[in-house]
Amino acid sequence: MNYDIAIIGAGTSGLSFAKSLENTGLNVVIIEKQTEEKLANPDYDGREFAITHLSHKLLNDLDMWNRIDPDAISLIKNAKVLNGNSDYALHFSHTEAGEDNLGFMTSNHLIRKASYEAVKDGNTDIITGTEVTDIATNNDDGTLTLSNGKTMTVKLIVAADSRFSKTREMMNIPTENLNFNRTCVVCKMNYEGEEQDTAMECFQYGRTLAVLPLTNKRCSVVMTIDTDKARDILDATPEVLAEDIEKRIDGHLGKMKLTTKLFSYPLMGIYAKKFYAKRYALIGDTAVGMHPVTAHGFNMGLRSADTLVGEIKTALRQGIDFGSITVLSQYHHKHRKFTRPLYLGTNALVKLYTNETAPAKLIRHGLLKLGNRLKPAKHVITNLLTETDDKAA
Ligand SMILES: Cc1cc2nc3c(=O)[nH]c(=O)nc-3n(C[C@H](O)[C@H](O)[C@H](O)COP(=O)(O)OP(=O)(O)OC[C@H]3O[C@@H](n4cnc5c(N)ncnc54)[C@H](O)[C@@H]3O)c2cc1C
Repeated sequence: MNYDIAIIGAGTSGLSFAKSLENTGLNVVIIEKQTEEKLANPDYDGREFAITHLSHKLLNDLDMWNRIDPDAISLIKNAKVLNGNSDYALHFSHTEAGEDNLGFMTSNHLIRKASYEAVKDGNTDIITGTEVTDIATNNDDGTLTLSNGKTMTVKLIVAADSRFSKTREMMNIPTENLNFNRTCVVCKMNYEGEEQDTAMECFQYGRTLAVLPLTNKRCSVVMTIDTDKARDILDATPEVLAEDIEKRIDGHLGKMKLTTKLFSYPLMGIYAKKFYAKRYALIGDTAVGMHPVTAHGFNMGLRSADTLVGEIKTALRQGIDFGSITVLSQYHHKHRKFTRPLYLGTNALVKLYTNETAPAKLIRHGLLKLGNRLKPAKHVITNLLTETDDKAA
């Protein structure tokens, strides 16, 4: 096995990283523990992603976006954020952003499928049904041991093996871990009201509810609740659950009907102290595992892959060792500069909007009002959510 770069994990981050390395002349391999069948036809997992303009551009450039059925892609034109029982909303509009839409929505399993197909059509080798069980690196190279007993030695190992990465642990990279003690329950519903293109994020008391527009009068429903209360949602009958959501959004979408299973995700924030070690780099959730409320995890994963590939290509052009500490630390600084404020900001937002003391309720409401009035602040938030200003990057 003679490769320059080995990628651990064929999630969206690992696959987009591999695809971006095509045409660099480097020999690249991905090792993934799931079977080939699962990668080719991933199961629906309830996750519908809000995709920024930058990610849309990257997915287009990587020959992935065109592989997703257009009927499965919806446009978010507007967004509103509500607090508690009030119907006052902080509004974001695509016209203010100067774009046709604020962002795009599609399913994680469709992006995974498209990403896998795009990589398979290229020159990267994919070893499936095989886990990385051990890892060791030194100044010159890195060696992986696989569950099939084989080993491989490469110039750079890139870990995209999830926020609970075992290889990051084996490499002794410490992480900041934040257990939110909250669980996200996601599903899809149909609705009978008028077709909508506005995403709603409702920071209600006791739970957070996001209703995100999909095509053909369907929506993604994302409920976040204290983990010890998640069973209240998971055990509800489909009818009771749909009625509850209808009420929680004041009948805005008319009669609703549950159309999928419920999927639950316990929420944990992870931030790696360093995004590299000798001959080893972290991308995607392995570097930064976000709370989903600001819909950044997948988008950040694509960006991390793009940033690291940018550094590798520069090194190749300059004749520098692409797996050296100098190159990897450049990537670390760039990605940290972008992700750190978003990670801390998202966690602070979660802390405030799950705090139900009287002063916090006042601040929560006040901040929405301020957000509507302060145009520069609104512009900054809009750009963070849409990444419109960065899309030419
Ligand atoms: C409810 C919910 C909603 C979300 N909504 C959004 C959203 O709207 N927008 C957004 O941007 N993000 C969102 N996210 C975040 C998004 O899901 C993640 O950021 C993204 O899927 C991470 O992709 P990844 O490729 O980095 O990791 P993963 O998808 O976790 O992939 C890791 C891969 O590594 C493989 N693997 C693990 N260990 C090994 C090993 N030892 N050897 C070989 N292979 C291994 C796994 O099998 C897997 O295929 C959401 C998350 C949740 C939970």
